Amino acid sequence: MNKKCAELLKEVINNNYQNISLDKSFYNDEEFYYEFKSDDQVSENDFDKLEKEIKKLDKNIYVKLIRISGVYIDGNANNDMITRIVGKAFSSEKELKKYNAFIEEAKMRDHRKIGQDLDLFCFSDYVGPGLPLYTPRGTIIIDELKREMERICKKYGFLKVSCPSLADISLFETSGHAQKFNEELFRVESPKGHKFVLKPVQCPHHTQIFASKLRSYKDLPIRYMESDKQYRAELPGAVGNSLSRTYAFTVEDGHVFCTREQVKEEIISICNLIKDFYTNMGLWKDNWVSLSVRDYKHPEKYIGDKEDWDLCEKLLEEISLELGLDAKRCEGEAALYGPKLDFMFKDALGRDIQIPTIQLDFAMPKRFGLSYIDENGEKQTPVMVHRAVLGSYERFLVLLLEQFKGVLPIWLSPVQVNIIPINIKYQGEYANKIKDLLLDEDIRVECDMSEERFNKKIMQSNKMKNPYTVILGDKERDNNLISYKKYGSDETITVPIEDFIQLIKEEVKKR
Ligand SMILES: [Zn+2]
Repeated sequence: MNKKCAELLKEVINNNYQNISLDKSFYNDEEFYYEFKSDDQVSENDFDKLEKEIKKLDKNIYVKLIRISGVYIDGNANNDMITRIVGKAFSSEKELKKYNAFIEEAKMRDHRKIGQDLDLFCFSDYVGPGLPLYTPRGTIIIDELKREMERICKKYGFLKVSCPSLADISLFETSGHAQKFNEELFRVESPKGHKFVLKPVQCPHHTQIFASKLRSYKDLPIRYMESDKQYRAELPGAVGNSLSRTYAFTVEDGHVFCTREQVKEEIISICNLIKDFYTNMGLWKDNWVSLSVRDYKHPEKYIGDKEDWDLCEKLLEEISLELGLDAKRCEGEAALYGPKLDFMFKDALGRDIQIPTIQLDFAMPKRFGLSYIDENGEKQTPVMVHRAVLGSYERFLVLLLEQFKGVLPIWLSPVQVNIIPINIKYQGEYANKIKDLLLDEDIRVECDMSEERFNKKIMQSNKMKNPYTVILGDKERDNNLISYKKYGSDETITVPIEDFIQLIKEEVKKR
């Protein structure tokens, strides 16, 4: 059916727009595609019309056009850009309706909507698209995630380092990233003659910390981690007011320098780290693992020796079997320097988002001439393992907000307790006192002293998905009590203040 639909889409596009060229239609089990160049402007607003015309051509076909985007011919950035329209076909009206309902639900879960409703991040025309600004509330989430990441990684022996956003271009020429990311590099120059690049990755910086002193085999493995901004010059049309694709993104990145004998154990340990973190987050479900290997037809796209590549791919295969990861082999998905294990999750639309990754690299240490002294006093080249657990905070936030529909666990909530006095005049002072007590205990608390009606304040507190809303009346004030409602529950519970503080602290600690 998708084959037929691809042909029909081609037909209606050719009927509706001028001078179609460079076109191609194709399909897979899931979707059908049509790529073309036209003199006319085509946009999502035309979808309705195009769907109706397809229907006119074949009454038994139910289609929904789902995306339009600009793509390079054959995926090569040196080629021209053309338009791609993607559609889905359904066997009945009922199936189509079901899909539409799913899309509606997905819109409610869209991180852009949740981000706005919960006041987490924003974009500015002055700053530019693709450059998210985190509000105080959003920053709390990012900071808490960073802290949690550090806590877990520390257990696995990772040490935090910190590097600047800029580097001399030669750093990336040596690593191979300058060639690989050529079109995606932000180059920074000054009138004083500086020629820098904004880092597209952190690995080359980390190699230089390793290289800063003589290393012995006894020092290995050395594990560095850093959460910092990286920069990629994405196509202007590809970024917008979404966190899915941005020019600047914060990456939780780590690198292990080890001996060849240590590689396997290191990778297994990182797999466990990933599992630990995602299980804690309640996200260890609906995920699958990709064993991303070379594009065997285009070896020129990679750096390093063939023997090393063969060895690395075999090793990852073994580990995948041993840990029961059931990894799917994906050709052409490897990194510049080596194969990788990518952990894939689902966004609100059920699309794959790749977040954690483990990448094996024999090439970069050679390029930078990294070495350590082995048991026999001889110089050896270490192996580098690149790993991201949380990955980009932006992309992780997409996953988190869409999976939890904005209802975050208490340790991540920007506001953990929202206090509402029934009448500011009578319980305002008591509310402030409770607020101070909670602040002293490091609990993130707000007190709603606005002139709004009480019911409206409760509604507002629920809308912001505050985990706990505290309600204070005369009874509470006179007896040193508080009454609270937990998010999602109608029950109001009254307890002494100390008990409430204990409850919150325990819940935050539990994660
Ligand atoms: Zn790296």
